[in-house]
Amino acid sequence: MKHIDEYRDLELTKRLARELRDDMSGHEGQLRFMEVCGTHTMAMGRYGIRQMLPPNLELISGPGCPVCVTPVPEVDRALELAMKPGVILASFGDMMQVPGSSLSLGRARARGARAALVYSAWEAVRLAKNHPEDQVVFWGVGFETTSPTVAASLLMARDQGVKNFSVLASHKLLPPALSALLDSDSLDLQGFLLPGHVCAIIGAGVFQPLAGMRRMACVVGGFEPADILGAMLMMVKQCLSKAPKVEIQYQRAVAFGGNPKALAIMNRVFEPVDSLWRGLGLIPKSGLRLRPEFRDFDAADKFGLPPAQTLEAKDPPGCSCGQVLRGLMRPPQCPLFGTACTPDSPVGPCMVSSEGSCAAYYKYERTQ
Ligand code: SF4
Repeated sequence: MKHIDEYRDLELTKRLARELRDDMSGHEGQLRFMEVCGTHTMAMGRYGIRQMLPPNLELISGPGCPVCVTPVPEVDRALELAMKPGVILASFGDMMQVPGSSLSLGRARARGARAALVYSAWEAVRLAKNHPEDQVVFWGVGFETTSPTVAASLLMARDQGVKNFSVLASHKLLPPALSALLDSDSLDLQGFLLPGHVCAIIGAGVFQPLAGMRRMACVVGGFEPADILGAMLMMVKQCLSKAPKVEIQYQRAVAFGGNPKALAIMNRVFEPVDSLWRGLGLIPKSGLRLRPEFRDFDAADKFGLPPAQTLEAKDPPGCSCGQVLRGLMRPPQCPLFGTACTPDSPVGPCMVSSEGSCAAYYKYERTQ
């Protein structure tokens, strides 16, 4: 039996879907928004949000899955470390299956590489303490949501004198990527549904240039059906009134200025660096590296790894993840979707990740 709150949410969801249809029925053109976040993509599929939208309102997926945007050269760098004698590479589970140039971490592990699955950077620090004879490298993958906790773990390791712990930083920053996306493609886009959890850290204010100079409707949305539809309604109203701005629908978690404590710890340990993205190439100041004072904990420095952008590496043959991540292709349009590429046998990272667009479409929207 449903809880009374679920009935309320259901009624609210229906009302918002109706309001969206009513507003768009008076609009002659098409509106196209991008959901930037993989968690939104999954929620859309799970709740059938795309099917609730009016025909002249389209929502496409973007580069919001951290596993998916990590490019092959960064996977290869992690593989190189995992295969080094005396090194344990600790990483989140999804990264184990992402193919590098020749194999994935999971396959390398089957061949003797030491790759440990962890759920947090704290766990990697504990692993280092339990294996004082080895070097433990935590592979830091993710957006601004995860980098503060990685920074905190590193500070903890330093304070506790854990010298055999280091971080391979593959962290990405979302705002520069969205600007680069608009620069590189003629996407015919009118707005961004911004990610609630990234904005809980960095705030919504940092996206103001997208609304001001780029004329994009920008709304930070939560992850329940009513959140998503409510955010889209706000975006539609901005577009119809020709007044793009940054708004927060997800006010119960996000403040305009973000989380000052999390930002302070992230900025204490990391600094922005040019970074390579799958599908988007090298984007200025779109990644994070350790500040010079934390060099002892920088795995790239410790093990003499070359920058990812200097490595030659190709995406898996036939894989269109780059196009999918730029919003140029819907997953079912990839010739490998659902045939050569499935969650059991993924060809590209967008099918591997629990937040990948291809995995979301495979699971929930295969008949669309
Ligand atoms: Fe890549 Fe598979 Fe998605 Fe095609 S269906 S884009 S091969 S992950």
